[in-house]
Amino acid sequence: MLIEENILLKNFNTFKIGGPARFFTTIKDLKDIEELIDFIEKNKIEFFILGGGSNLLIKDEGFDGIIIKPAFDYVNYFEDGTVIVGSSKNMPELVFEACNLGYKGLEWAGGLPGTIGGAIVNNAGCFGFEIKDLVLEVSAINLKNKIFKVFKKEDCEFEYRNSFFKKNNEWLITEIKLKLEPGFDKNELLKIMYEKINYRKEKHPLEYPNIGSIFKNLKLNDLNEELIELARKDNVIRGDKIPAAYFIEKAGLKGRQIGGAKISEKHANFIINVGNASAKDVLSLIELTKEEVKNKFKINLDLEIKIL
Ligand SMILES: Cc1cc2nc3c(=O)[nH]c(=O)nc-3n(C[C@H](O)[C@H](O)[C@H](O)COP(=O)(O)OP(=O)(O)OC[C@H]3O[C@@H](n4cnc5c(N)ncnc54)[C@H](O)[C@@H]3O)c2cc1C
Repeated sequence: MLIEENILLKNFNTFKIGGPARFFTTIKDLKDIEELIDFIEKNKIEFFILGGGSNLLIKDEGFDGIIIKPAFDYVNYFEDGTVIVGSSKNMPELVFEACNLGYKGLEWAGGLPGTIGGAIVNNAGCFGFEIKDLVLEVSAINLKNKIFKVFKKEDCEFEYRNSFFKKNNEWLITEIKLKLEPGFDKNELLKIMYEKINYRKEKHPLEYPNIGSIFKNLKLNDLNEELIELARKDNVIRGDKIPAAYFIEKAGLKGRQIGGAKISEKHANFIINVGNASAKDVLSLIELTKEEVKNKFKINLDLEIKIL
């Protein structure tokens, strides 16, 4: 197992932001995990598991511990629709392959960046679907006590953009068992996948480095009748939620910029890196957004992204 030092993390996330990691290692084999745990214990350092870095804001000072990047990207498709996939499998690749083989279930995730492991941690979702709907089992190893466990779906505690693994970040996900439906027309599935990709190209500021939606959408249950009525009039209620972008836009924040970080004109819940943004710029813009939305609507925006 190779452990590198002083590795710049801005090269490992979609925001292109972040200082160096003291240590960095790629795990290709479960056998390396024993050695990795010994290294962590011996050096008494913190660790962080990195997927595709598409949901992460990494601070300018970097990370004074070890970044662990799993590299398990195998996939096995079974005739009954079961799919066993390594946690680092790139999501866009997985979605394309599944559709192309006529396995239905993942089309909605067309254009969702990152890895399947990261999608499990966040219970990633869009267009009314969530990855949890396809999960049978998740295998993971606890990097503190070396326990290996196969989690049934019920044990994963999936919620809106949340899971057991998000709350317990010492578990490194190694493999996921999904249930898809085999035997569909691949052209139909690929068509839906490309529709989703094109929708994203049109609505999201993909021309600039970003990390997707910064804030979680707001649950109707947590909002007062006045705000719900306002959103109803503007026809922006989606299922049981109102997009955070709606309130950010209404607070007049689209286009607001601090340093190299800017609230996208295209989608108000995206912050874009318009040129050498620092994490400090982004954090200041996040604080400003929270404050102005709170002042105007008396609501607290919750972060969807993870800050390291
Ligand atoms: C343009 C764009 C659009 C997006 N659209 C959506 C969307 O529609 N819906 C949505 O839900 N998200 C969206 N996102 C956010 C992001 O793509 C997803 O949350 C994605 O699933 C994160 O995966 P990742 O591999 O990049 O995770 P990372 O950002 O690397 O990590 C996220 C979290 O998962 C943990 N993690 C990653 N891999 C493992 C592992 N193997 N074991 C244990 N922990 C792990 C990390 O420690 C971290 O806490 C978007 C992002 C971008 C840039």
